Amino acid sequence: MTSNLWQATCREAVRAPPLAQRKTVDLVVIGGGYTGTAAALEAARSGAQVCLIEAAEIGHGGSGRNVGLVNAGLWLPPKVILKSLGSGEGERLLSQLDAAPERVFTLIERYAIDCEPVRHGTLHCAHSPAGLRELQNRLRQQQARGAPVTLLDAAETARRTGSLRFHGALHDARAGTVQPLALCRGLARAAAEHGAHLHANSPVRRLTKTGDSWVVETDAGQVAAGSLLLATNAYHRSAAGAQAPQTVPLHYFQAATPPLSDNERARLLPGGEGCWDTALVMSSFRIDLTGRLIIGGIGNLEGPGAKVHTSWSDRKLRQLFPWLGRRRLEQAWCGRIAMTGDHIPKIVKLGARGYSCFGYSGRGIGPGVTFGTLAAQALLRDDPGLLPIAPVTAHRESFVAVRQGYYETGSILTHAVAARCR
Ligand SMILES: Cc1cc2nc3c(=O)[nH]c(=O)nc-3n(C[C@H](O)[C@H](O)[C@H](O)COP(=O)(O)OP(=O)(O)OC[C@H]3O[C@@H](n4cnc5c(N)ncnc54)[C@H](O)[C@@H]3O)c2cc1C
Repeated sequence: MTSNLWQATCREAVRAPPLAQRKTVDLVVIGGGYTGTAAALEAARSGAQVCLIEAAEIGHGGSGRNVGLVNAGLWLPPKVILKSLGSGEGERLLSQLDAAPERVFTLIERYAIDCEPVRHGTLHCAHSPAGLRELQNRLRQQQARGAPVTLLDAAETARRTGSLRFHGALHDARAGTVQPLALCRGLARAAAEHGAHLHANSPVRRLTKTGDSWVVETDAGQVAAGSLLLATNAYHRSAAGAQAPQTVPLHYFQAATPPLSDNERARLLPGGEGCWDTALVMSSFRIDLTGRLIIGGIGNLEGPGAKVHTSWSDRKLRQLFPWLGRRRLEQAWCGRIAMTGDHIPKIVKLGARGYSCFGYSGRGIGPGVTFGTLAAQALLRDDPGLLPIAPVTAHRESFVAVRQGYYETGSILTHAVAARCR
């Protein structure tokens, strides 16, 4: 049984009755995560008629389950992105994503989104000497781009995190943390305040193009629109006529303690940074507004490895923070990350004035909000030049099931042996 902390503590609400009528709008958006809600907000803000349709609740997918680290760029270092996309295209993507945290925190402030924003940066923590060398390399690349990043030594990392386990950490001052579900619902609420029509619990069953119009059908309603954004990403539910986003699902889970005492909070992440490490089978930790410590790792809590993953979380907490003693983990939940082979997000052109955005590969708060915002602009102005990355006509991943099995088996094997007392 899993329970999601973000659902239990979300203070943002949004009204989104099921679609039960026929509508004609300028833009129809399928999917109510960051990509879809940011697109709806941007379209409605600019005066367009927009309708967003969500299969379950707003924030049901990755947007309501993630760690809440609002980072700049992608998970890949800049040089790898530039090599993969070429300097023109790579620079276009990087400059948009370097500015992504600013875009997110500006929206939070403008619409008073009640999502526990903390903008004290994030810490990428070196789990080994090799991890530290990787951070030194990232530091050089980020500083060459003028990014406000600093490499902390082991002592300073221990002071900031409360853990003696790290060899150093890369601090990125642009970044921060949020309550991820509240951010998503807040974006949707802001879109509705600008006049967007939001409909949850309305899975799209069929998508067709008739003349210049996209027609989206649910069980009880229909929307026709000049432009379409498919924003279903790793949580895509099949709809006839819709090209499913091709990604490799990677499960990631989190577990949260009850709130720490004030004394403990003064020692553990006193600055409120969100953290993740350099390990191949990575893990994360952060604090929420009420002082719960949240630990995360790769793995599926709804699969056969669930017990291995939960007992690893227990051990990992004790390894990182032995001075805390044993802590009960109250909530545990997981989600699917949409990975692409090259770890670069994709925009697929579905037809005239129709795009699908997906594959943020584990870094989708800044990128999701950015891709959604810019896709809405590009669609409504019919200008693909506004997109953060050039659209392709199709995207295929090979050996999806094999690669998904490899991720999960690797995390089970790692978690079975990792963080044991030495
Ligand atoms: C556990 C986890 C931890 C992560 N941690 C971080 C992090 O710390 N920082 C970060 O930047 N990124 C993180 N990510 C990635 C980030 O959460 C995602 O990239 C991002 O939420 C994707 O947003 P989205 O809007 O594209 O898709 P989603 O949020 O997945 O939304 C897609 C929506 O489409 C809906 N849908 C699907 N099919 C249909 C249909 N047929 N009709 C109608 N609606 C449909 C789904 O119900 C879903 O709500 C993490 C992801 C996970 C899973």
